[in-house]
Amino acid sequence: MELIKVGEKTYYIKNPTNIGIYLLNDKDIFLIDTGNDKEAGRKILKIVDEQDWNVKGIITTHSNADHIGGNKIIQDRTGCSIYTVGIEKCFTEYPILESSFLYGGYPFKDIKTKFLLAKESKVTDIENNLPEGLEYFKLKGHFFDMIGIKTSDDIYFLADSLFSSETITKYHLFFIYDVKEYLNTLEFLKTLNGKLFIPSHVEATENITDLIILNENKINEISNKIYEICSTPKTFETILKEVFEYYNLVMNAGQYVLVGSTVKSYLSYLADENRLTYEFENNQMFWKQKDN
Ligand SMILES: [Zn+2]
Repeated sequence: MELIKVGEKTYYIKNPTNIGIYLLNDKDIFLIDTGNDKEAGRKILKIVDEQDWNVKGIITTHSNADHIGGNKIIQDRTGCSIYTVGIEKCFTEYPILESSFLYGGYPFKDIKTKFLLAKESKVTDIENNLPEGLEYFKLKGHFFDMIGIKTSDDIYFLADSLFSSETITKYHLFFIYDVKEYLNTLEFLKTLNGKLFIPSHVEATENITDLIILNENKINEISNKIYEICSTPKTFETILKEVFEYYNLVMNAGQYVLVGSTVKSYLSYLADENRLTYEFENNQMFWKQKDN
């Protein structure tokens, strides 16, 4: 983990999930997200101690395990408050909701690992609780009520609203809960004018225009691919299998629920856009193109 200063009061820690830091004064700081797990939390605390800082608060951009993994250990050690919004509050306080939601029922043991199940932490609503110098804005789509943060140094923390070209080239499908909202969020990102943008899993960058287009194009490509797969009626399991084959992905329990949930979100999106519909036959649900 490497601490990088990017503004008068704004820092971030370079990490698989980037961690934002905002200085309220010489000593007190706010963190933006806490990384993958307890170990990430421990490393963050070490950096904070070295700087002689004091964690006053944590902003949780959204409740995925790789963003709240260090919440509990940091909250236990420092007594800090954790701020987020809406449904993200529920998942952060009751992380079992993430693996249950992804699977769509009681989660079996292999999807209750730290990658999909974080430790619980106590949460406060962010509304009217942000210190001066920090603003939050909605970034819906990737998860239910994800937010981003703008600091007084004109630096934007963009959570998982953008994925890197490496991720997109290698995995193609990045997690999406609501495809339509994700596309709306990309439109919103086009309007931002900041000094620096820090998505959680992308290198900090001054210009996000190309990345927005790349994410947008990939979403449209996947939508069209799933639509094409449904040129003959198919069950969800068959659609998922064909998506994995097309993109050369390797199936396992984690991918089954993460990509599976995302493909279901695309199916809902295509149904709401009046491109796909479904029928039940022999007690199976088949997705198909609307006019065929
Ligand atoms: Zn993430």
